[in-house]
Amino acid sequence: MNVFTDKYQRIVVKVGTSTLTYPTGHLNIRKIETLVKCISDLQNSGKEFILVSSGAVGAGLGKMGYHPAKMTVEEKQAAAAVGQCELINMYNEKFGFYGHKIAQVLLTKDVVDDEVRRHNAHMTFSVLLSQRCIPIVNENDTVSNEQLKFGGNDTLSAIVAILCNADLVINLTDIDGLYDKDPRTNEDAKIISVVDKLDDNVFKCAGGAGTERGTGGMLAKLEAASMCVCCGIPMIIANGANPEILYDIMDNNYKGTFFSANER
Ligand code: GLU
Repeated sequence: MNVFTDKYQRIVVKVGTSTLTYPTGHLNIRKIETLVKCISDLQNSGKEFILVSSGAVGAGLGKMGYHPAKMTVEEKQAAAAVGQCELINMYNEKFGFYGHKIAQVLLTKDVVDDEVRRHNAHMTFSVLLSQRCIPIVNENDTVSNEQLKFGGNDTLSAIVAILCNADLVINLTDIDGLYDKDPRTNEDAKIISVVDKLDDNVFKCAGGAGTERGTGGMLAKLEAASMCVCCGIPMIIANGANPEILYDIMDNNYKGTFFSANER
C-alpha cells in the first residue's frame, strides 16, 4: 500500500514532441514503446489514464520532408494531419499489444469554451473511462487557427484534467523539472522539488520557449500548473527521457517538481 499512489486514481499524462520524436522528425519508437508499456501496466494495476500526446506536427513534418522553421501555416496543418495518423496508428498497435483499447480525441478551444459542447466532451470522456479505454488527446491542429488554439498541449492537458475530474497531471518533458534558474546557463541551478504556492517568484524561475520541435517551455507548464492547482489538481513536471519514471512517480520516489493543489 502506497498512500501517494492510492490518492491518484485518474491520471493525465502529457508528453511532448521532443520526447516522442527524434530531431529528424521520425517517431522515437523506443520511447513510445516504454511509455505505452508503463501506462498499460499501471492501467492494469487499476489506475485510469488519459494521454495528452503531442508529436503530430513533429512526426508529420518528417514524413512530408518539411523543415520546422520554414513551414507555412497550411503546411503545418497538413503535417499535423499526416503525423496524427502515424501517431495514433503507433499507439493503437502498441496499446493493443498489451490488450488495451484507445480512443482518439481531438479538441479545439471553441469546444471547451461552449457550455454544451464542453458537456458533450465531458460525457464522452466519462464513457470512455468507464469502459477502461485510454483516451489519446491532442489539439485538432489541422483545423485550429489562432482563434481556436489552446496555446499548446500544456494548457490542453490542464483543460482535459479539469474536464475529466482527474486526480493528477504528469507533464513529461525534456527537462528534470523546474529549476531555481536556467540550468542551461547556470551550473549551480537547483531543482525545486515541491511548489506549494505558485506565485510571481516561481514564475520568475521559468525561462523562455522549448525546443524548435515542441511549443512548450517552462512558462507554459507553469501556466498549466496554475490552472490545475486552482481546480484542486496537483501537477508534476518530470523528465520523459525514460518514461519508466512513471513507476518512480507512483512510488513517490522521483526527480521532478510537484505542484501542490489548492483544496477542492
Ligand atoms: N498539437 C501539437 C502536435 O501534436 C503540439 C503542440 C504542443 O506540444 O504544445 O504536434
